Amino acid sequence: MTSIQVALQGKGRPENDYIKCGTDPQTPSTSTDIVVVPAPAPSLSDIMGCQVIRVIVGGNIGPEKSFTVHSNLLVSLGGHFEQKYIVHKDTGPMELPNDLPEVFAKLVNYVYAGTVPSVLATTPLQDQASALVKLCQFYATIEKWNLVEELLNKTMDSIQDSYHTFKDFPTLDLCKKVFTAVKKEESQLRKFCMASIVTNLKDRPLAKNDHFFTLLESNGAILREFVAAVSKFDHNQDIRVRDGNGDPNFLGGHVTIRGVSPCQFHVHKEVREDILVRCGTGEGREPREYPFSGLRPECYFYRYFA
Ligand SMILES: [Zn+2]
Repeated sequence: MTSIQVALQGKGRPENDYIKCGTDPQTPSTSTDIVVVPAPAPSLSDIMGCQVIRVIVGGNIGPEKSFTVHSNLLVSLGGHFEQKYIVHKDTGPMELPNDLPEVFAKLVNYVYAGTVPSVLATTPLQDQASALVKLCQFYATIEKWNLVEELLNKTMDSIQDSYHTFKDFPTLDLCKKVFTAVKKEESQLRKFCMASIVTNLKDRPLAKNDHFFTLLESNGAILREFVAAVSKFDHNQDIRVRDGNGDPNFLGGHVTIRGVSPCQFHVHKEVREDILVRCGTGEGREPREYPFSGLRPECYFYRYFA
């Protein structure tokens, strides 16, 4: 069978990164029949280097703790750490006095072991509520630090899964804390909390709860988010469930109940991909090349991009 290869010319991609297409080599490939084959991820040893940095976390809000991390791995988290490293590179330890050591410890696990925080199904009943709060607290912190999207999105998946496992939703009290502490209106954690309130309006006596009205009246942004959530969600869907809606390219597993879009609470940059489709490489044919350009979201849930 004749193969077709598409060279990806995006910034930072290795030269041998490519897309295979299963179409007739005589015709240029279209965006709908392209299968993306991601380049193999670089190994930990490739990217970690040998330079380390000391990070001192806590102090102002509890005990402080010192961590030693490979600088390259810290910078690979992006956002706050990338910017802070430029400043602190040669000036001693990096200090995060207003943050919690247990949050930073989870980041260390992520960069070295790829482990995204979650709440185990075996967590004792009396510890579940606080574990769920800590998971949301972790998300709020990495969102504040503007870290890489994949960590944000996988943590949000973990929040959905954990609440689903325990047949629970964020409490109104937790939602209030999130709306108070997280100022970014586009925060996906705020959206998840508001969606939780809205889809539970019929099942929970929130409408009789004065705190609920106090929350809505506390500022215009929260009221706007409430109205937006009412127009988007209803009580017949489960916001903790990622629903691929039968899409064969969705890799997250299919469910029989009505959930939300797998990327409903994700953040994505749309990436403009300039690719070169190379056709007719078999049996005496001269290779022909066709340029292609398109937008696609970066999400580990999808195998194909239309
Ligand atoms: Zn996504």
